[in-house]
Formats: sequence, C-alpha cells, structure tokens
Amino acid sequence: MRYRRFGKTELRLSVFSLGTMRYLASPENVWKTIAKAIALGINHIETARGYGKSEEYLGRAIASRLLPVNRSQFHITTKIPPTADADTMRRYINESLQKLHLDYLDCLGIHGLNTWEHLDWVKAKNGCMQAVAEAVADGRVRHVGFSTHGCLDLILAAINTDLFEFVNLHYYYFFQRNLPAIELAAKKDMGIFIISPADKGGRLYTPPQTLSNLCYPFSPLELNYRFLLSDRRITTLSVGPATPEELTQPLQFADRDGKLTPEEIIVLERLENHQNQILGAQKCSQCYKCLPCPENINIPEVLRLRNLALAYDLTDYGKYRYNMFENAGHWFPGSKANRCTECGDCLPRCPQKLDIPNLLQDTHQRLKGPSSKRLWDN
Ligand code: SF4
Ligand code: SF4
Repeated sequence: MRYRRFGKTELRLSVFSLGTMRYLASPENVWKTIAKAIALGINHIETARGYGKSEEYLGRAIASRLLPVNRSQFHITTKIPPTADADTMRRYINESLQKLHLDYLDCLGIHGLNTWEHLDWVKAKNGCMQAVAEAVADGRVRHVGFSTHGCLDLILAAINTDLFEFVNLHYYYFFQRNLPAIELAAKKDMGIFIISPADKGGRLYTPPQTLSNLCYPFSPLELNYRFLLSDRRITTLSVGPATPEELTQPLQFADRDGKLTPEEIIVLERLENHQNQILGAQKCSQCYKCLPCPENINIPEVLRLRNLALAYDLTDYGKYRYNMFENAGHWFPGSKANRCTECGDCLPRCPQKLDIPNLLQDTHQRLKGPSSKRLWDN
C-alpha cells in the first residue's frame, strides 16, 4: 500500500480508502471487512450519516477494541449533509460521534454540497459551518472538507470559499469534466479524495467484452485506477466492497502509483481513437457550451453516456446512470432526454453542430429503463 499526504490536513492516507456504504449485510461482515482492509494497509475509513447503519456498525467495531491497530493509526471520515442552521449541525455532529464511539473525527465532510442553496448555507454566518467551527475549536473535529455531486462551477466556488481542507468528488478516465476542480484544489493544497472509481467510473468490475478487448493487456478497472493513481494531485480513491473478498481485486493496484507507462499510454490512446472512429461527427466533446436547457436536460451528461455506450458498449453503466435522472434529486439532477421539446435553444451554442434533439431521443431509446436510485436509497 502506498500513502500520500492528504493536502493541508497533513494526514498521510493510504491511496485506497474503505468506503462503508455496501458492506452492511451484518455487523460481522462489517467487522471482517474492516479487519481485512486494515491488514491490507488501508488507514482511512469513510462513512456517512446517510449510509443506513454504517456509522453504527463501524462504531461497534471501534468500541469492541478488536481492531488490530490503535486509534491513532487509522483515520475516520464521516459525512453529514449541509444544514440551513447551526443547531441541526450541532446535533448531527454529536450523533455521529456517539454512533461511532469516538471522541473526535479525523475528518468531517459536508455531504453532498450539490446546489447553490447548499453553498449559501455553508457561507451563511450562522449556518452549519458555525457548528463545524465550534467542533474544530473544541477538538471534536480535526479537519473539514466537502463531498459533491454538483456542477463544476459550484465545486470551484465551494473550493474558493477557503473553508475546506479536502474535497471528495467525481473524476475518472471516462469523466474528466472536473479536472479544473482537481487543479484548483491542488493549487490550494487540499486533499483530493475520489468517489468510488470502480462503480461511478463505469461499473468496471463487470466490464463489457468490447471494452475489455480494447484495454488488453490491462483490465478496464486497472487502467482507470492507474489513470488516477498516476496523478500525484490525487490523494486517495474510495473502494466500497460488499464483502472482505471484494477488496482483493482493487488492492492489487495499491502499490502501482507511478507515472503511466508507455504501454498504458498506448492503450489509453487506443481507447480515444476507437471512440473517435465509432462516433465520428456524432461525438459530443463534453464542452458543456449547450447549457442551459429550458427543460433542464443535462445534455452533456446524457451524451457522455451515449458516447460510452456506442464506443465501448458501456450500456449497462449508461442505463444505471441515465435512469437516475428524475429519481435522485440534487444527487443527479436533470430531466430525461425525452423531455426535449426541440426548441432549438442549444443548437447554435454547440461547436460540433450536433443534432442535439435527435441524439437525445436516440440516447433515451437506448438507455431508458426502470428507475435507478442512489446506492444508499436502495
Ligand atoms: S432543443 Fe431540446 S435539449 Fe436543446 S435546449 Fe431545447 S429542449 Fe433543451
Ligand atoms: S455543446 Fe455540443 S459538443 Fe459541447 S457538450 Fe453540448 S452537445 Fe456536446
């Protein structure tokens, strides 16, 4: 396992962090998964108030004093949603500490700073950050950051408040929109924690054959991890196993954090060339210039899913993400593509001159299906 400095927090975190949203089958499974993670070198465990019984089960493991290391050798992050007032946040912080059987949190993340309203709450004088500041002052919280599923402009604005020491965000080989946020966070010496690269980065544990063939001799999962770990600005990647056994595959790559090799670069170029060849003049370049859409369709994200489905057969992943539109609130905002009224507003803004309404209808036909929900709503 490699370790990296988590920005200005000065913590040294393992390059993989244990996410605790999927291992909740039983307290015993939780305990075994944590024990295996620690044995494999993970020293950062992440939970959240919103992850069902995750804090409680993790707290029981901590209270049992059976962990093979002492408290100073592992770091706990919990995440709490932004609140409009300080009192609610005071209560939430105390409840998390109680459930976790901890007298301090290494890191507290504002969970899902996803909207401009959330940012207003965070910036408000007597808002939730007042309670967070008190907890920092009296030692119950050591470091403060935020997680986000919001748009790039919002993430940049949140980073620019200078209220936070780390950021937890989406950024993967197949989704590089947030690169400017990575750059800004690194410039401000923030820790950078990537949300679930295997799942959100393409459901890469179960890749389609087309993608596997294109990535050969590497696996798609391996290439995505290598793409992220070769970037020294990034501190740690979350891995969310449902069982201890599911840690084995990702942690094979935990020592491979050097620069991309010439062979890896060739394969990444092959992926790019293949996408260009398959999509031709229908490729959405992800410039985001078409927004806003009066029907609130996240045109670039819909067309990103189309790009990936056509080029790499990432259709299951596309369906999983596409069917979260209209079903996940501010965690995955936007209307489904069939809401397009063909008003034409977006057309002059697209430098690729794409026939956006037609491509949206095509994407809807390919990816529509039963509603998908966020993992911890299931
Ligand atoms: S044409 Fe469709 S996608 Fe484009 S702005 Fe109008 S409603 Fe939105
Ligand atoms: S403007 Fe065109 S190329 Fe750019 S994101 Fe929108 S649809 Fe894609």
